[in-house]
Amino acid sequence: MKTRIAIVGLGKIAIDQHVPSITANENFELAAIVSGRLATVNGLPSFRTQDELYAAMPDVTAVALCTPPAGRFETTRQALLAGRDVLIEKPPAATLGEIAELAAIAEAQDKVFFTTWHSRFNPAVAEAKRLLAGKRLARLRVDWREDVRRWHPGQAWIWQPGGFGVFDPGINALSIVTEIAPEPLFVAHARLEVPANKQTPIGAEMTFATPDPVAGADLTAIFDWRQEGPQSWNITAETTEGQLLELTDGGAKLAVDGKPAIAEDSQEYPRIYAMFAELLASRTSHVDVRPLRLVADSYLVGDRVAVEAFED
Ligand code: NAP
Repeated sequence: MKTRIAIVGLGKIAIDQHVPSITANENFELAAIVSGRLATVNGLPSFRTQDELYAAMPDVTAVALCTPPAGRFETTRQALLAGRDVLIEKPPAATLGEIAELAAIAEAQDKVFFTTWHSRFNPAVAEAKRLLAGKRLARLRVDWREDVRRWHPGQAWIWQPGGFGVFDPGINALSIVTEIAPEPLFVAHARLEVPANKQTPIGAEMTFATPDPVAGADLTAIFDWRQEGPQSWNITAETTEGQLLELTDGGAKLAVDGKPAIAEDSQEYPRIYAMFAELLASRTSHVDVRPLRLVADSYLVGDRVAVEAFED
C-alpha cells in the first residue's frame, strides 16, 4: 500500500526536488501540502497549518518537512506528536539540543524519523567511501565556493541567527566528508567571516583533527559565498598510500588518481525517497548529527571576524 505523504513548506527545494521525487516513487502518494501561503501543486489540497491537515486527512501518515532550519524543531515535534513518520531536509535542526530531543520523541512515539543529507545520495560518494575504508587520510581539502546571490535569492532566513549562512551549502560538504572519512573528524580550528550587516558567516575555514593524527596530515575546508564566475563544490582526499580521490560537482563525479571513475546525473532525491520507503518498511529511524556537530563546533572554537557589509 502506498504511503500517503504531505509536504510542509512549499519553497524552492520542495518544488524542485521533493514533488517530482515523491510523484515518481510508487511507494508514495503525494496527498497534500501545508503552506503558510496556501500554495499548492497539482491541485492538491493545501492547509495553512499541520493541525488543519491532520484533522482533515488522518490517512496522511508521513510528512516531508521542507521549511528552513530555524523553526523546524517545533514543526518536526508537532508532526511526530501527531503520530506521523517524518523526513526532514538538511540541516535537521537549528541546534544539537533540538535534534537530540526530536530523536527521543520519535523513539517514544515509535515513529520513523529520517534526517536526510541529500549530497550523500550520489554513487560517487558511496564509491569514495568504499575506497577510503580502512585507509588513513594524509590530505583532505574541501572547496565549496558559490555565489549566494545566484543560489539563495530573496532567502532572508539564511542571514538570520539559526540560518547557517555559508554553512547552509557548506553542511552538504560536511555531510559528504563525514560519510567518506575513514576516521572521525573533529574541528581543530575555524575562522568565521561575518558581514557587518548580517548574523551568519559568508565565508568560513576549518581545520580538522582526527583522534590518532597522521604526522603532517593536512585536513582543511574552505566555504565561500562570494564566488562569482565558475562555482566549485569539490572535495579532494589523499591517503597515506598516495591514492588521490577527487569528488567534484557536489559529489556527483569521482576521479581516482586523475582518471574519471564515476559521473552520474544527480539522483539524490529519488534515492532519498527510496531509502525513506525502506525505513518505513522496516520501521527504522535514521538520525545522523555529525555534519551539524562540525558546524556547531566551528562556532564553539572558531575565530569570528567581521568583514564588509554584504547586500544581497
Ligand atoms: P525556501 O525557498 O525559502 O522555502 C522554504 C519554505 O518554507 C517557504 O517557501 C515557506 O513555504 C516555508 N516556511 C515556513 N516558515 C518559514 C520561514 N520562517 N521563513 C521562510 N520560509 C518559511 O527555502 P529552500 O531553499 O526550499 O530551503 C528549505 C530547506 O531545504 C533548507 O533547510 C535548505 O537547507 C534545504 N535545501 C535547499 C536546497 C536548495 O537548493 N534551495 C537544496 C537542498 C536542501 P510556505 O510559504 O509554503 O509555507
